[in-house]
Amino acid sequence: MVKVSEAENIIRSNLKDFGTETIPFESALGRFLAENIKADRDLPPCNRSTMDGISISYPAFEKGIRSFLIKATQAAGDKPVNISAENECIEIMTGASVPDSTDTVIRYEDLLIQEGMVTVKTEDIKQWQNIHLKEKDKKAGQVVIQAGALVDATVISMAASVGKTELVVKKLPKVIIISTGDELVNVNETPLPYQVRRSNNYLCKAILQKYALQTDMLHLPDDYEITKTSVRDCLTKYDAIILSGGISMGKFDYLPRVLEELTVQQLFYKVEQRPGKPFWFGKNTNGTLVFAFPGNPVSTFMCLNRYFLPWLDACLDITKHKLYAILNKDIIFNPPLQYFLQVSLNMNEKGELLATPFEGNGSGDFANLIDTDAFMELPLEKSNFIKGEVYRIWPYKQIFV
Ligand code: AMP
Ligand code: MG
Repeated sequence: MVKVSEAENIIRSNLKDFGTETIPFESALGRFLAENIKADRDLPPCNRSTMDGISISYPAFEKGIRSFLIKATQAAGDKPVNISAENECIEIMTGASVPDSTDTVIRYEDLLIQEGMVTVKTEDIKQWQNIHLKEKDKKAGQVVIQAGALVDATVISMAASVGKTELVVKKLPKVIIISTGDELVNVNETPLPYQVRRSNNYLCKAILQKYALQTDMLHLPDDYEITKTSVRDCLTKYDAIILSGGISMGKFDYLPRVLEELTVQQLFYKVEQRPGKPFWFGKNTNGTLVFAFPGNPVSTFMCLNRYFLPWLDACLDITKHKLYAILNKDIIFNPPLQYFLQVSLNMNEKGELLATPFEGNGSGDFANLIDTDAFMELPLEKSNFIKGEVYRIWPYKQIFV
């Protein structure tokens, strides 16, 4: 049996590099960039009007000219038309390229337009007003997105605007999620009173979809031969295997024996924690890692969040901030185990994140996951946890992740 921190260190010393791949930018949502994205030209590429109105030469206004003759009208996308006299202006639309012969855009609200002549109604005019200057945001060749960034909507739109139709992203591991247990039936079946529908595998799959990681799924009955044959096969095909259930001391928990017989090296078995104590972790000779989590849904869920996701982040070289919250109620937990307490999170008006414990009915009580937001990791060394103390949290609800 190892401590949580020891388990974490052992897992961290088994990182893998999955390489990179080039994919269409539109399919890159959720992936991590493996290249710097540079501006292919200045951003903006020209002086661009930010208002509908007219564009004039400021020295003319400074001289006292207040009425201008409209030389041309320029829509966004039109080639810029220059004025040829100081009392001329270009009627210009938002997004249009401001001609070099002008330097100041005055919005319609400040103008009176009559028969091709425009009179400026205000004296409050500044040179370069209402113009988004060429290269103000980025210069051609400058990095606009750093390697390592998570591809989200803003990254996709930036890739589109600099013409990057393909992105080099970090490759993801090949992962299979294996559920085990004779009591488990398909989701579309009506379980008998002593059966349950499989849900852990969908839970894991859904969490990993956030990483755009497509996982395979397999279900194994509590059968020694089938378990051995299937696990042997998976060990040759995947970078990582996530198992749920069948790893405890039960008569039909065949996994510890099967993994040993298949000579998967056990790196630890059992962690001083609740939930998730009978967590087994090991490595096959070809490098395939086996994360065998106990089957209780909350155990599987906690172990995936606390161990598998940080492993995946580290493999992909992603740094995430550690998060902490303030315990909002006294808690007593006596067993010599590190307790992962389910909490709801709320931010108070001081900007403090408060964690209100939800005391459920043990690891099987997965209905609470719907109403809670995070696990709070309460240290092993203590058993009295006092309101106001700060502890690390592992959020799992979308708003906090
Ligand atoms: P085990 O670790 O195999 O002893 O399973 C512990 C508990 O978790 C049992 O009550 C199982 O029915 C339940 N369980 C195991 N796997 C799943 C699963 N994939 N979906 C839902 N419940 C599960
Ligand atoms: Mg089982």
